Amino acid sequence: MHYLDHAATTPVPRAVAEEMARVLTEDFGNPSSQYALGRAARDLVDRSRQTIANALGCEAKQLYFTSCGTEADNWALRAALHQNRRTGRHIITTAVEHSAVLQCAKALEQEGYEITYLKPDRSGRVTAAQVAGTLREDTALVSVMLVNNETGARFPVEEIAALLRDKPALLHTDAVQGFLKVPFSAKTLGADFISLSAHKIGGPKGIGALCAVGRAKPPRPMLYGGGQEAGLRPGTEPTAQIAGFAKAVELRQEHLEETVSHMSACRDYAWERLRAVEGLVFVGEADAPHILSVSLPGYPSQNIVSDLGEKGICISAGSACHRGKASHVLTAMGLDKKTAAGTVRVSFGPETTREDIDALADALLEHKTRRFPML
Ligand code: PLP
Repeated sequence: MHYLDHAATTPVPRAVAEEMARVLTEDFGNPSSQYALGRAARDLVDRSRQTIANALGCEAKQLYFTSCGTEADNWALRAALHQNRRTGRHIITTAVEHSAVLQCAKALEQEGYEITYLKPDRSGRVTAAQVAGTLREDTALVSVMLVNNETGARFPVEEIAALLRDKPALLHTDAVQGFLKVPFSAKTLGADFISLSAHKIGGPKGIGALCAVGRAKPPRPMLYGGGQEAGLRPGTEPTAQIAGFAKAVELRQEHLEETVSHMSACRDYAWERLRAVEGLVFVGEADAPHILSVSLPGYPSQNIVSDLGEKGICISAGSACHRGKASHVLTAMGLDKKTAAGTVRVSFGPETTREDIDALADALLEHKTRRFPML
């Protein structure tokens, strides 16, 4: 198999799986229990939170575990709007956010919020000037992602934060695709809410985190129950998931420079190999080291993905979340129909090899030779 879809999810390194298995079978206590096994579990959760907070550049008490990145995004939006409920009901976001933000924004629109969706340019980028141009007195929240999951474009969150410094609007950034991929720290980023997810960096699925820093107050709960996560996100802590998240962060951090430069080298090598396929075009701006988006105009991406899938090559047609629908990101970028419909996303991780990329390039070339353009 040639797995080239690390932006969809990543394999869990053995060391992470072993740590999780140890927690599930040995240190399996409930962190709220008052005997030694429970105290060990509490200790494990505290240490894990500290590890992730250190990697993000925030304090442990500013980091709340969630069930995934989607939950962190939803929670951040709701929490910021609650905190700024007296500021107004205007929200600025981009038309290329992950659906975890976009669908939440749609729901908020139905509840009476007014949303401005910033359109990217042809390269997929959004500027701080666009935010400045749409900012109003009653803007309560700006939500702009750090790295786009389809194109790898990095957005100017620091500049947007500087712009909002003396304004009431709070800033959320979905950093799910940026964490441990592009350099940033919660301290220097300047966002008030930051969302993370473990399964994009070698951690397990089903665990994410919301960081509330800067001007953010402790987020208003979305759930009510026991006192876990400072009473703000109750529910017995998923200790194995949390330990796996922390172990994955530890591993990535230990080899950060090496991993990032390996992913960039893979992206550059893939581009070098793929550009030899006649008619293939580059889509967007691959600022992030792990994402490359390309299009074979006239060749529907669904066919490319399933053809390559039969050869054991895993890539995705735009975002894995779209399941066949036209990508809102490519549409917002103003790509013509043919180019948008032929776009595939290739993404890399520490495990990616040159053989994976060679297999991809050969298979794409073969696809192009065997299939007729359909659009
Ligand atoms: N935000 C971005 C940018 C993503 O790429 C993803 C996952 O693809 C998410 C949020 C959602 O994360 P999760 O799968 O943990 O809910």
